[in-house]
Order: sequence, then C-alpha cells, then structure tokens
Amino acid sequence: MRDDDLIALIITLVIGVVALAIYIGLIVLGVSIARRKNRSPHWMWFAVHPLGLLITLIVMAALSPLKLCPQCAQKSPMHARLCGFCGYNYEAPAAFAPQHAPGVYVPPPRY
Ligand SMILES: [Zn+2]
Repeated sequence: MRDDDLIALIITLVIGVVALAIYIGLIVLGVSIARRKNRSPHWMWFAVHPLGLLITLIVMAALSPLKLCPQCAQKSPMHARLCGFCGYNYEAPAAFAPQHAPGVYVPPPRY
C-alpha cells in the first residue's frame, strides 16, 4: 500500500465519520424539537432514509406545539379551550381545577 492510498483512506474515513455525526446530530435535533412540542419523537424513525430525515425535520419545525391536559395527560392543540378527551376546561382558574396527588391515577369523569 502506497502512502497516497493510506492518506486517501484516512481522509475518506474522516469524512464518513463527520457525515455520520452530522446525520445523527440532525436526528437528535428532530427528537428534541418533537419533545419540546409535545409531539411523538417516534416520527424521527422516518430518518432512516436521508430524504425522510429532511422531510421529518421540516414538518417537525412547521408543526404547532400541543399542550398536555393536567387531568388526563392527553394532548390537545394550543388553541383548544376544552380537553377533547375528558372535557377539562383550560381557561378555568387554577383554583377550580381538580387537585390530585402527583403519580396517582385518576380515571376521567363520566358524563
Ligand atoms: Zn383531559
């Protein structure tokens, strides 16, 4: 093996490692955006294909965030006034909100 071949091999390996690091970094970025917006980070599984990574990152950046219901922990759009799952009123004063101990399961009320 000549010295030129060895240098070319090392340069190729370094470029490959840098490209892989950038690729994994973009996937981690997409997962953090999804978590920040209360969206499922499992959408980033589309990133197994580079085009899927690009599309998922653009969609993740464009999606509006969701808010978590304090009563049933389901996700609703930010503009929602009532929870679509349990009917929790997001605009009610906090004093009237049901108070539960953290970590205790509370079934949603029946209507
Ligand atoms: Zn709810």
